[in-house]
Amino acid sequence: MQQCSRWRFSSFAPCLILTIMLTVSFPVWSQTSAEPIIDMHLHAKRADELGPPPLYLCAPFLTWPVKDTHEDAQTYFARVQNKPACPSPLRSGSNDEDLMRRTLAILKTRNVTVAVTDGNLEVMEKWKQASEGRILPALPFDPESGKPSVDELRELVKSKRVMAFAEISSQYEGIAVTDPRMEPYFALAEELDIPVGIHMGPGPPGTPYVVASSYRMRLSSLLTLEDILVRHPKLRIWAMHAGWPLADDAIAALYAHPQLYVDIGIIDYAFPRKQFYDFLHRLIDAGFENRIMFGSDEMVWPDAVSAAIDTIQNDPTLSSGQKRDILYNNAARFLRLNK
Ligand SMILES: [Zn+2]
Repeated sequence: MQQCSRWRFSSFAPCLILTIMLTVSFPVWSQTSAEPIIDMHLHAKRADELGPPPLYLCAPFLTWPVKDTHEDAQTYFARVQNKPACPSPLRSGSNDEDLMRRTLAILKTRNVTVAVTDGNLEVMEKWKQASEGRILPALPFDPESGKPSVDELRELVKSKRVMAFAEISSQYEGIAVTDPRMEPYFALAEELDIPVGIHMGPGPPGTPYVVASSYRMRLSSLLTLEDILVRHPKLRIWAMHAGWPLADDAIAALYAHPQLYVDIGIIDYAFPRKQFYDFLHRLIDAGFENRIMFGSDEMVWPDAVSAAIDTIQNDPTLSSGQKRDILYNNAARFLRLNK
C-alpha cells in the first residue's frame, strides 16, 4: 500500500530557476533551535515515490485550486502542477540519496532528536542507520490488504525493528477506524503498548479524483475513534493531522478521552497560515495544549521539516512554554521517552 501522504505536485519551474536551485544543497536557516524537537510524522520515501523528481510543494498554499466540472482529473492536476499558488515552493530531493541526506541534515540542524518515521521497511531502515539515532522506526498496517499480518508485526516489534504503527492510511481506502478489519491490529498495539498513528484529516486537494477514489473527508472526525478508545483503554493512539478541519469534533474527542493525542503534520506548513493558527489556537484555548504534538509530515520535500518548525516557533501568540510543549514535551510524554 502506498503511504498515506500522497501529495503529488510535479515540476513546474523554468529550467533557469531549477538550475539555480540545484546548486544550493543546504539552505541557510534564518532560525535554529538549540532545544530538542520531536517530529511525530516523518516519512522515509524514495525520491520518485510520489512522481518523478523534482516535485514542488507550496509552504503554504495561499488558495486551493478550483476544478471545473468539465475537466477530467488529469487536466485538473496538470493545471495544479503548472500553476502553483505560491511564490517560493519547496523542491523535492533529486534522488534517494539526496532526499535522505538533506532530510537528515535538517533534522540535525534543527535539533530534531526523535523523528517517528515510516516507510518501506528497507528504505526506512537505511535512513535509521544514517540518522545518528534520531529515527524511531514506524510501520503502518493496512486493513484492506491485511499486510503486514498481526503475526509479522508482532515479530517486528519483538525484534525492535518497529516501535510504532503509523501512518495508518485507511481513510484513503474509505475504511473507517471502526471497521472490523482494524480490530486485530488495535488489540495487538494495546497488548504490546505500541503507539498507533492514524491519518485523520486532509489528503491533497481533490483527493477522491486525483489520488484515491475511496477517500472520504468525513472519516476525519476524531469522534469516530470513540468506540476504539473505550474498547481498548490502554491503547495509545494519536490522530495524525488532528482531524483537520473538524475542530469541534477534535475538542469533543480530546475532552472525553484524555489519553488521546494529535499531531499537526502537513497543516502546519502547507495550509494557509492564518487558518492553521486559528485551528491550533482553538484546540489550545479549549484546554488541550498538553496533547498537541509537533509533526511535519515531510514526504519528499526536506525543507518542509524546517518550514513546519518555523510555523510553531513564529506563532505570534503562543508562550515559549506552549511552544516547548508542542515541539517536544507532549510527544516525550506520549512516547514514554523518560523510560
Ligand atoms: Zn497523513
